Amino acid sequence: MKLKSEAITAFFEAEKIEHFSAIPADKLRVIQPQKLTFMGFDFRSAIVICVPYFYPDEKESNLSMYARSKDYHLYFKELFVRLGRLLTDLYPGFVFRGYADSSPFDERSAAESAGLGYVGDHGLLICEPYGSYVFIGMMLGDLPYAMLADEVPKKLCKECLHCGACKKCCPSPDACLSSLTQKKGELSKDEIDLILRGKLIWGCDSCQECCPLNREIKVSPIAFFSKDRIGVLTRDMLCNMPDEQFLARAFAWRKRETILRNIKLFETHKGY
Ligand code: SF4
Ligand code: SF4
Repeated sequence: MKLKSEAITAFFEAEKIEHFSAIPADKLRVIQPQKLTFMGFDFRSAIVICVPYFYPDEKESNLSMYARSKDYHLYFKELFVRLGRLLTDLYPGFVFRGYADSSPFDERSAAESAGLGYVGDHGLLICEPYGSYVFIGMMLGDLPYAMLADEVPKKLCKECLHCGACKKCCPSPDACLSSLTQKKGELSKDEIDLILRGKLIWGCDSCQECCPLNREIKVSPIAFFSKDRIGVLTRDMLCNMPDEQFLARAFAWRKRETILRNIKLFETHKGY
């Protein structure tokens, strides 16, 4: 049998993931304490994983880069099944659970503590050579950190330049468009103006596009992010999309009405 460290490294190599590292549970910063109650196990360590998703194939798009492929939560779900299988083989008797966007912890600070990158002034993790176009996931386990510590190598990355470019190019500093396009229900006139200024029906990439650390970054080598992409989402596409396909998209969680409302905004304000 391979050494544990070799097996873990080989696993991530096969997954084309370069950034992964372990941290002890006391390095995790709790930001949603109410979720701790539902975790149901005594976790002691975490393997933090950064997954690159930059795939600049579309000439034009009305969706944020992260929403053009299928929902990344689906990717993590399958990744965690494969990784969980390996870890339970390597460390029998221990429990492992994967989280992406759903744990009580601050994923960005966890990735920073794990040495995978630095949080930039735009609030996103910068993870060389993929810039800030990375998703963060964590495999929590009740395995003591000491049993993982030397098994999972660290990677060092560039720090934010504090150049101010991300702040300068932000079209909506007081109400991030990423959340505004996801807001349900009626929008105020100001909110509508802001969304139109952002040019996207879902999300906003302006601060990422302006960041010099996102120039000449590497395209994601992970097939999930190059397949099933949508560049421009139209009303027809959305209305004719079977439920199964719609639910596999990152914009599905706010229901069809929300993204349809945004499409309508751009239809009624052509040439804005
Ligand atoms: S644009 Fe400049 S200040 Fe903003 S995150 Fe990038 S390097 Fe940092
Ligand atoms: S995502 Fe867009 S609106 Fe939000 S902070 Fe970045 S540039 Fe500003």
